[in-house]
Amino acid sequence: MTILGHFIDGRAVADTHRPQPVFNPALGTPVREVALASKATVESAIAAAEAAFPAWRKTPPLKRARILFKYKELLERHADRIVAAIVEEHGKVWEDAHGELARGIEVVEYACGAPEFLKGEHSRDVGPEIDSWSEFPPLGVVAGITPFNFPAMVPMWMFPMAIACGNTFVLKPSEKDPSAPLILAELLAEAGLPAGVFNVVNGDKEAVDTLLTDPRVQAVSFVGSTPIAEYIYATGTAHGKRVQALGGAKNHAVLMPDADLDNAVNAIMGAAYGSCGERCMAISVVVAVGDAVADALVAKLKPKVEALRIGNGAERGLDMGPLVTGAHRDKVRGYIDAGAEEGAELVVDGRGLKVAGHEGGHTGGFFLGGTLFDHVKPSMRIYREEIFGPVLAVVRVQTLEEAIALIDAHEFGNGTCIFTRDGAVARLFTDRVQVGMVGVNVPLPVPVACQSFGGWKRSLFGDLYAYGPDAVRFYTRRKTLTQRWPSAGIEKAQFAFPSNA
Ligand code: NAD
Repeated sequence: MTILGHFIDGRAVADTHRPQPVFNPALGTPVREVALASKATVESAIAAAEAAFPAWRKTPPLKRARILFKYKELLERHADRIVAAIVEEHGKVWEDAHGELARGIEVVEYACGAPEFLKGEHSRDVGPEIDSWSEFPPLGVVAGITPFNFPAMVPMWMFPMAIACGNTFVLKPSEKDPSAPLILAELLAEAGLPAGVFNVVNGDKEAVDTLLTDPRVQAVSFVGSTPIAEYIYATGTAHGKRVQALGGAKNHAVLMPDADLDNAVNAIMGAAYGSCGERCMAISVVVAVGDAVADALVAKLKPKVEALRIGNGAERGLDMGPLVTGAHRDKVRGYIDAGAEEGAELVVDGRGLKVAGHEGGHTGGFFLGGTLFDHVKPSMRIYREEIFGPVLAVVRVQTLEEAIALIDAHEFGNGTCIFTRDGAVARLFTDRVQVGMVGVNVPLPVPVACQSFGGWKRSLFGDLYAYGPDAVRFYTRRKTLTQRWPSAGIEKAQFAFPSNA
């Protein structure tokens, strides 16, 4: 079986250290293995990135952008190859993987604006004959650690902006679906990126801990679950690094009685069950305001959840594939058991799903059907915890105030949305709710590349969001210069603090 290695200093690097199987979740069988990098291998990637930094830092932003323009073309030309790798190792359906890649490419497009966003800020005549300005130089070697659920897009939230700003990068992608990130690295080299500017090391905690503690790494971007995000933030900052660590979520959609119900139901279906619920912006709770709208919602959702087209994502036209691993499928199934035991009403039970051609044996697959719970209470585990599977909970409240209070009391604050026809209600909701990304009749309010992505509360540790304008701030360090050229002879020493008084 092939063992995937790394991409270091402009070339593929073979490795057989601690190989671990990589599964095709639609078949439930390993398709290859991935080497888990030793500390020494990660250090060699950091060394390559450090060596590449001085020349890359001095490369004009326009020339960096030209490489990214070429990269965008290559990504589009090789889209099906990248998508096939995502589908094979993650399990999401073909069209969804194309969507993920397209959103990653949008960040590359935005990063092509480096000459514009690195211009700096200038103030002339801040004092007598004195000018002052801020420059935004890169940090040096920066690292990215990414989750399994977007093996192409989430790395592309990070490295295009980091390298456009003049940094060099070491990516540690998820060991569950390592092929797509390696293709991303290969195409970046083909686009003309100098060796060492972008490196990929596959690995686990050993690789991550090396990145978090090595003094040559200046900053770390992380996306993954909240317990690991918190660990990354604490450890990275304790080692003097700038850290942004994006964590888990429990995203609520509020359904008002005046909403366009049919449109809301379709939006909720896609946002709850798309990618098998394995999205940090997935809607996992609908807060229905009033029992009448809750009854109508559940009546409309039930047949649609039962009719989800589920199968191998490599086929076309499906709604949902398998979960990423057998262990994760079992964990999600355990949540369904817990919800039923705790007294929620199990309207659609995905546990008995049989997918034709995937009944077991060598083509079994980690499938689980769409599941719908009604009458979920905030005290229940299926409400409190992130399930990260195709399980939607309906919670009933009587007022918008109650809905907002519920959302605000939750530990996570990644995304939320409201379905309503009332502009004043939407305005009040968006103003009050304590969540980082808010939609109005938009179920997945994932910011576009020229905005920035991040949650509040325990969905983000750090101050700056991913990609967009925040990424320019994250991947650069402000340097402010104050300058004058004295022309009026010798001046007296001044002991009062200089001011314009
Ligand atoms: P994860 O936290 O298990 O893994 C993320 C990364 O951390 C991987 O590269 C993994 O190898 C590494 N890692 C895992 N355990 C580690 C440890 N003990 N020490 C050091 N490194 C470790 O997350 P996942 O299961 O791959 O992804 C799913 C999670 O990611 C969900 O919680 C989801 O909400 C979250 N997520 C959040 C966002 C966001 O933008 N907020 C986006 C996508 C996914």
